Amino acid sequence: MSNIANVLIVDDNETNRNLLNKMILALGHIPVPANNGLSALTQLNEKPIDIVLLDILMPEMDGYEVLGRIKSHPGLSDIPVIMISAVDDIDSVVRCIGQGAVDYLVKPFNATLLETRIESCLENKRLRDREKQMYAELTELHEELKINYETLRKAEQARDAMSHMIIHDLRSPLTTIQGFIQIMQHRRDEKTIIDYIPRILGATKNMAMLIKSILDISRLEAEKMPVSLVSLNILELINDVYEPFIPQADKEGIQLSVEPESRDIVVAADKELMSRILQNLINNGLKHTKDYVKISVTPQDDSIIISVTDNGPGIPEKYKVKIFDKYFRIEAGKDRKKYGVGLGLAFCKMAIEAQKGSIYVESEEGKGSSFNVKLNIVKAD
Ligand code: ADP
Repeated sequence: MSNIANVLIVDDNETNRNLLNKMILALGHIPVPANNGLSALTQLNEKPIDIVLLDILMPEMDGYEVLGRIKSHPGLSDIPVIMISAVDDIDSVVRCIGQGAVDYLVKPFNATLLETRIESCLENKRLRDREKQMYAELTELHEELKINYETLRKAEQARDAMSHMIIHDLRSPLTTIQGFIQIMQHRRDEKTIIDYIPRILGATKNMAMLIKSILDISRLEAEKMPVSLVSLNILELINDVYEPFIPQADKEGIQLSVEPESRDIVVAADKELMSRILQNLINNGLKHTKDYVKISVTPQDDSIIISVTDNGPGIPEKYKVKIFDKYFRIEAGKDRKKYGVGLGLAFCKMAIEAQKGSIYVESEEGKGSSFNVKLNIVKAD
């Protein structure tokens, strides 16, 4: 509130009203006159009034009733009311103070007293407003703290769940390795050793891959993964990545193809990260598909969309965003086997976003999925 106050003067006596009007103006405030109780209540509902000067004796609706209505109205009850009374009517003033009036002013009016009362009301109001504002700020801060605490608690729970998952995922290949070594120790023959060493190596490879994925994701999250955007011919990159998958696809009877796109399209990307994103998507496609995985490139305005499409079980609608979360895996089911630890797509999302691109999935349950990577095209100068 500024230092200029809107002062409502409620008095049926015109001379008193005019006099108070002048005095209020002289004090630098804005007088708002009302010649009866009803008009006072109307003005209070229509204008922002800071102080009310209220005569007690008025026809129809007297000062007590006006005061009572102000004090029982939730939007008005905080407005300070100063009663106007005759010198010999102190009993009425006492009654009004009991009803919530803050002070009184006797007739004939004294300018200094009026000023002191108005200033003291304004000071009280300022203090109350400040108190209210501080209370509101504290409540907001408290709410913020509650939300932060809740976020921290959830993050802690998620971290605990992840630690459990990592421990579990590292323990199973470790148990396999221990088992194989115990058998080798027991049998001590060449055939067992030749037979088991590749299996042990396979299990250690899985462990190393899991550790690498965890480290890569932490580095991407901490923005510590070196990302160097260079101009890359996307078709060359796709061919380089997809060719090594051909023997595996052939062996599993899966048709792996790149849809022909004759134009040379150059994108701004990090070669190593882009290769790994495509490897992850092709790998997922091969793991989940029924019989084909198709890679296609579609230019769109200033970007291209690389899509890896399969005809596997698809992604249920409710998981379409979640599958990009760390350690999120869809439960294994009738048509869905359990693979990996749920870090592949999280890596893809972080790695593509580090290259200013994006990734999204289009999928229909039971029909297949299309994982789409969007990247910026480099325009020729
Ligand atoms: P994982 O390494 O466990 O496969 P991802 O992050 O790559 O983890 O995938 C997360 C989840 O998304 C997996 O549980 C998998 O079931 C599902 N998913 C990923 N790719 C496909 C796909 N092409 N078709 C169907 N489901 C998929």
